Amino acid sequence: MEDCIFCRIVRGEIPCFKVYEDERVLAFEDINPISDGHTLVIPKAHAESLWEISEDDLAAVHVASKKIGQAISEALAATGVACLQLNGRGANQVVMHYHLHLIPRISGAPPLPVSNWELKAGDMARIKSVAEKITAAMR
Ligand code: AMP
Ligand code: ZN
Repeated sequence: MEDCIFCRIVRGEIPCFKVYEDERVLAFEDINPISDGHTLVIPKAHAESLWEISEDDLAAVHVASKKIGQAISEALAATGVACLQLNGRGANQVVMHYHLHLIPRISGAPPLPVSNWELKAGDMARIKSVAEKITAAMR
């Protein structure tokens, strides 16, 4: 896509700190990192979200992420790596080109804000009715 910032990175029009590339996938460092090693893994072909990405690209991104995540973990002695992927502006997706965030927590660093929510018991009747709604919408 002409104006998409990640497509422009794929085309080499904007620089990036590349850590991995194959036929379908590119991975580079986030320039507003939550932690050292915060990496974005993207399909080279433009797709806005999980609903639009092709199954082959989706698989390629996630298979590559396994390798990249392990390298991040090893290189930075991470105690864990959060994988985060946002769909839609309501979920705070800002760049509308599918990307998987790999966010390591480095030993001694504070908990990652993206994976540190408080657990509160839900209403089981409500959970059941929502689950039924989702199941009914499944195609
Ligand atoms: P999201 O909210 O999931 O859409 O996140 C988009 C991410 O892309 C943010 O973490 C940004 O810091 C990151 N980002 C935006 N522009 C660039 C860029 N040119 N190079 C690297 N990361 C970027
Ligand atoms: Zn794009």
